[in-house]
Amino acid sequence: MLCRAVAVELEVTKELNKLLYSVESMYLSIVREVVAYAVEHNITSTTQLHRLFYHKYRNEYPSLYVHIVIQAIRQAAQITKSFIALRRRGLVNKPYPEIKAVSIRFTEMAWGYEQFVKSIAPVRLSLSLLGERREVWLRPHKRFWRYWWLVLNRKASLAGTLIVKRKLNKWYAIFTFKIETEERTPQAIVSFDINENTVAVSKIDLTSTVGMVTNWNRQYLTPQLYSIRTDFGRLARRYKRVRNAIIERLKPEFALPNGNYVNITNTREYRKRVKRSRERGRKLDRVRHVANELTKTPAIIITEELGENPQESMIEDAVKDELRHRIKQTPFKAVERAVEDKALERGSKIFRVSSHRNSRVCPIHFTRLEGTDDWHILKCPRGHYVDRDHASVMNMAWKLTPEAWTKAFWWNLRKKIDWRGHEGKSNPIVPWNITHLLLLLMRNAKASLEQSPAMPARGKPMNPAGGANEGRARKPPKKGGGQEVVTY
Ligand SMILES: [Zn+2]
Repeated sequence: MLCRAVAVELEVTKELNKLLYSVESMYLSIVREVVAYAVEHNITSTTQLHRLFYHKYRNEYPSLYVHIVIQAIRQAAQITKSFIALRRRGLVNKPYPEIKAVSIRFTEMAWGYEQFVKSIAPVRLSLSLLGERREVWLRPHKRFWRYWWLVLNRKASLAGTLIVKRKLNKWYAIFTFKIETEERTPQAIVSFDINENTVAVSKIDLTSTVGMVTNWNRQYLTPQLYSIRTDFGRLARRYKRVRNAIIERLKPEFALPNGNYVNITNTREYRKRVKRSRERGRKLDRVRHVANELTKTPAIIITEELGENPQESMIEDAVKDELRHRIKQTPFKAVERAVEDKALERGSKIFRVSSHRNSRVCPIHFTRLEGTDDWHILKCPRGHYVDRDHASVMNMAWKLTPEAWTKAFWWNLRKKIDWRGHEGKSNPIVPWNITHLLLLLMRNAKASLEQSPAMPARGKPMNPAGGANEGRARKPPKKGGGQEVVTY
């Protein structure tokens, strides 16, 4: 089961706008007051808070619809719960959560759900706000109709709770659709690795492979290796310059009499301009592009277990300030989440393997790789070069096979085994036949590589610039290979 939220703008007259604003402010003050009390007294139970506050607010706002009061108290309980949890982990400094805006929740009864779902093409809802019910027209769009079509075909259902939210002085109804996910037969095994400017991908096409196993056709039996260009690092650097320019431009306006400046990044003007620069939007577009690319066909998707805060652990090694900033700006988690989400929608399965030594081991000989003067290229003691990204994605694939584990990644067993990541939640439950096939494929790739081991790294490192050229990217290969594909 998969949830999708769809926001549809409401058609709001002046009068309705006023009404919604006043309901919103009542709702907000209920939430704020209840949260303040609950945090102070350490109460997270919805029932307890309900008992304490329900009658108070019924008296205070007699015309406000009952359901709205109940929902506001419930929402306050949830906010308190998450705030207390964060405080316990030392992640908040403030004594109280600061609630700037709320979205108003309506239960089934409070927005005419029954009637809405019965309709073939719903275009309005009936909201219980103050005193009477109001018919409110919607401005449905393509995306809404697409999900509604699924509802009509019984491939999705509409959730009973509706959220009404204001954004930039427009009102939206947010519908939640629960979509049935399909189990589909995987057509590929894809492993990916997120870098600063690229996402490295290794893909094994199962549909062409299964038939080819008997023929031992190398072209199909070996993984395709390519990168998807994201330029997250470059984007971050560019927007850092943009932000600095904005600060410089605003400085004269915020100069203090003593010659200092107000912290400009806190000003409304600054935020407005930053928003206009669309940094977030651009980043998000690229994240979605990657997710789309990787989930085009139903696949078994393999990726590294990132941990809670991947940036932090990487920063530990990164000394330079500049690099530190770039790592912080690479949306590892966002990419991972987007891929997982899309995978679910399209019938793919995602598996996480440990990141242990992924780019330290030769995927052919299982030996420890040595560095070269090019950060991207590593040298195997058996005398060939390997692209760091390729090693990483191929080793991830190895990790799903039983054999390679003991050979490649546990060479000093007693010293350090990171058992986390191989057991419990991230233990990959891959169908046995897939594992077996993968093992076969990887062995074959290994065998052909052993015969001509100079291939994978495109020769000796020639680039004197060292680690500076992170972004040289290859396009995803067309079906059947091509120049860009590295096949063995
Ligand atoms: Zn090697």
